[in-house]
Amino acid sequence: MRLLIMGPPGAGKGTQAAVIGEHYGIPAISTGNIFRLAITNRTKLGERIKRIIAEGGYVPDSLTLKVVVERLEEDDAKDGWLLDGFPRTLRQVTALDSELEAHGFHLDAVVSLTADEEAIIQRMLKRAEIENRPDDNEETIRNRMEVYHEQTDPLLDVYRERGLLIELDGMGAVEEVSQRVLAALADRLGR
Ligand code: ADP
Repeated sequence: MRLLIMGPPGAGKGTQAAVIGEHYGIPAISTGNIFRLAITNRTKLGERIKRIIAEGGYVPDSLTLKVVVERLEEDDAKDGWLLDGFPRTLRQVTALDSELEAHGFHLDAVVSLTADEEAIIQRMLKRAEIENRPDDNEETIRNRMEVYHEQTDPLLDVYRERGLLIELDGMGAVEEVSQRVLAALADRLGR
């Protein structure tokens, strides 16, 4: 099983990714988490991307691709995965296509969580107090939204045209959204 989960910042991708990963027994791989860990651990990668993330921009494709390819080569990702927060640019889509093709794999589905923009901005500001994420302040959040609309929104059309997109309402209680997501996936994938 090879899945993507997409959606604007704060739409709850990470939370639902964990639920889906658990349900299908595949690792939920979040580029955002990998980057944040690198920053916390002050690795070379972390030092390079810290400013970009704090300002709400995108990490350069070259760095992102290296991180993803390395992660997909790990043992637990052999039989499937769910990618959360990748791809985010058209170049990343192309790179993922090549990576899949090189191994004779294909995507099974792409879950897209939709959400009301003002509501998720409020949600992120609340999360900022709890999780202390460096990129959850109002200015950065607005910037992340803008970058998302500009660079990542167009990817939905790509996957829609391929017949892979499952669009779901990401608003509501976590359990409610999880049920919606798992039901839609079961419907599409037959399991
Ligand atoms: P969000 O829920 O706000 O989208 P993520 O945890 O997915 O948060 O990502 C946090 C930040 O990490 C992004 O704003 C971006 O700077 C960086 N990032 C994550 N994934 C990618 C990617 N695929 N390409 C470029 N930058 C990325």
